[in-house]
Amino acid sequence: MTFRALITDKDGEGYATKLTNIDQADLGEGDVTISVEYSTVNYKDGLALNGKRIMTSYPMIGGIDLAGTVEASDSINFQPGDKVLVNGYGLSQTHNGGYSEKARVPAEWVIPLPEAFSTRDAMAIGTAGYTAMLCILALEHGGLTPASGDVLVTGANGGVGSIAISILSGLGYNVLASTGRPSEAEYLKSLGAADIVDRNTLSEPGRPIGSEKWAGAVDSVGSHTLANVLAQTKYEGVVAACGLAQGMDLPASVAPFILRNVTLAGIDSVNAGRAKRIEAWGRLAKDLDPAKLESTISEVKLEEVPEVANAILAGKVRGRTVVNVQG
Ligand code: NDP
Repeated sequence: MTFRALITDKDGEGYATKLTNIDQADLGEGDVTISVEYSTVNYKDGLALNGKRIMTSYPMIGGIDLAGTVEASDSINFQPGDKVLVNGYGLSQTHNGGYSEKARVPAEWVIPLPEAFSTRDAMAIGTAGYTAMLCILALEHGGLTPASGDVLVTGANGGVGSIAISILSGLGYNVLASTGRPSEAEYLKSLGAADIVDRNTLSEPGRPIGSEKWAGAVDSVGSHTLANVLAQTKYEGVVAACGLAQGMDLPASVAPFILRNVTLAGIDSVNAGRAKRIEAWGRLAKDLDPAKLESTISEVKLEEVPEVANAILAGKVRGRTVVNVQG
């Protein structure tokens, strides 16, 4: 029996992604077969579908996130009918991903879906939201509390940024949202941002240390933005760095570390351990109201994914895109 999958392959000098009918034998290794209900489009999916050094072989099914129902399992930990999700690991890198009506993956990659969420909710959160929660766990680990002071979120309109704002405001933080799209100020405030920061004030080369403006930050932008965020972080503040929307470089000085005791925490969602993932999803279930996310969601079908993948690289996507895989 065949089913639909979006397959990315080399096409002459470039890359092309096409909806194709495949069968179980095309899925690859794994001990859990999942009927995929929803996936997402993250920035990394945009990179993957455009041949930008994510997929390690071709042809490959993209999609770094998936959620659905277990169809068959060789693992005692999962039974047919279980609702589950997978984020990262080898999906869309070394292993076929979530842009397919079925997926087969190693059991150790599979996380039980928290009861608070539907499979659609889980993909509205996706890697972006799970990474936002990893950032917040790192801020807490560094000692940040709402009493410490304001928290800055960069890349505010993006997936990580939008969800970080929602969670942090729900936890009682005063959240500053840095964006290049001031026209979206009302949207960002509806998520819980108290104030808007023009991202141009952070994106150019700055001084090694500046006035103390925030106690913590979630940064999905990198480059000069992260350097300026660090330079304006308060004494004993904490910054969680997870992204590179502006660039992979970090043209900073050690001044914030040695003069202000600032902590810079690195965040990797792809290979985060299972215990950390379960902790993050448990906290998402507790601290994020899925109804609050509804305004951030655009829902698309599998065949619309390549267009969204291009738009996300161009910085034109707001919030989260949910892919209705069976739709
Ligand atoms: P999105 O594309 O949804 O969001 C990125 C946001 O960054 C944009 O919406 C925009 O926000 C801002 N931005 C875009 N270009 C620039 C620029 N040149 N300078 C400054 N700001 C810019 O991506 P995601 O939220 O999905 O991911 C954000 C980053 O985090 C990406 O780099 C991604 O690769 C990384 N990431 C890393 C993970 C990890 O495991 N470490 C996991 C998930 C994501 P606005 O319009 O509001 O300014």
